[in-house]
Amino acid sequence: MPHKTENTISTPIYMDHHATTPVDPRVLAAMLPYFTEKFGNASSVDHIYGADGSQAVEKARQQISSLIGSRPDEIIFTSGATEADNLALLGVVESYQSKGCHLITCTTEHKAVLDTCDYLEKQGCEITYLPVDNLGMIDLDELKQSIRSDTILVSLMTANNEIGVLHPLQEIGKITREYGILFHTDAAQAIGYIPINVQEMNIDLLSMSAHKIYGPKGIGALYVRRISPRVKLAEQIHGGGHERGMRSGTLNVPAIVGMGEALEIARKEMKKESKRLRGLRDQLYEGLKTGIESLEINGHLTLRLPHNLNIYLPGIESRYLLVKLKHDVAISTGAACTTAQVEPSHVIKAMGFPDERAHQSVRFGLGRNSSSDDIDRATAVILDIL
Ligand SMILES: *Cc1c(COP(=O)(O)O)cnc(C)c1O
Repeated sequence: MPHKTENTISTPIYMDHHATTPVDPRVLAAMLPYFTEKFGNASSVDHIYGADGSQAVEKARQQISSLIGSRPDEIIFTSGATEADNLALLGVVESYQSKGCHLITCTTEHKAVLDTCDYLEKQGCEITYLPVDNLGMIDLDELKQSIRSDTILVSLMTANNEIGVLHPLQEIGKITREYGILFHTDAAQAIGYIPINVQEMNIDLLSMSAHKIYGPKGIGALYVRRISPRVKLAEQIHGGGHERGMRSGTLNVPAIVGMGEALEIARKEMKKESKRLRGLRDQLYEGLKTGIESLEINGHLTLRLPHNLNIYLPGIESRYLLVKLKHDVAISTGAACTTAQVEPSHVIKAMGFPDERAHQSVRFGLGRNSSSDDIDRATAVILDIL
């Protein structure tokens, strides 16, 4: 997966791996037969075509389970993490109405959780949004204090998609288990990058996406705990009763095979690759710091994803920098953009900073293709512009 292609001199160095990642060639190779000769419907139990598809799907469930410490039959395939987040929140609310409808989440969550919470508020649920400090961290005492008798779910992301900050899942899981409340985590950014174990962390529901970890787009999964406790989840897509009745629709076998392969590769390579990425990330920071002394890191310095660097460049509009960099380095602000205007990052604002800092921050997401040479080249280009 080189940066250089034959018909152009060079394409920009890709440093936006939090937005998406390229499909790993090994993943693609595993997927290809399932588009053509092994095209069977995984639900067609009466012949070999269906059996091939079904076996491939079960293998993927195993590959995913091995990474998170779950059982294969606790994996429900969805179209991605957005759908998994929707299914987790809406499905729990519908199933646990008799206990109440109070949910606890955080101001820095992904829009897939925040917008679903918005919708639930309009339906009459109450949502507590935990604040974060200026490093992006929640206060566990505040979490405890916000738990009520009608609280049914705590939803806190594993790693933030803008600033890479990690929530203390182990401690959160201890609290939710102690109070008998379900714990959902959106792990789209974390899966395959840092170790996660649903048993040790008492996670009841976990959202994943393949395309953030070198798998294809349009496929993801929700881990749904089956024992102690058995999570009840009302289906949000009706028809056919696939995925144990929780998510109907013909399974996307090639994409599922790709997701399984992508997570198996990540499981085997995570330790070494995380260390490499951390080294490159630190190299990038040190390099930029030599030229821009005033720069500051957004988010906790150590409790963060190995491949994330989000920096505040005082006095430099990120929009300006991104336009200038367009042909050399592909990075982003991490914030939601509409065509007309750039909305300041809700995450940086939630950390208590003014709009100005949100408009003067950029996110780097390094990945499998990033090399030390790329880091040096990108640093030089950025320092040159500034
Ligand atoms: C990318 C992302 C999502 C959305 O995942 P899709 O599979 O693209 O729907 C949700 N949450 C987080 C934290 C993400 O980074």
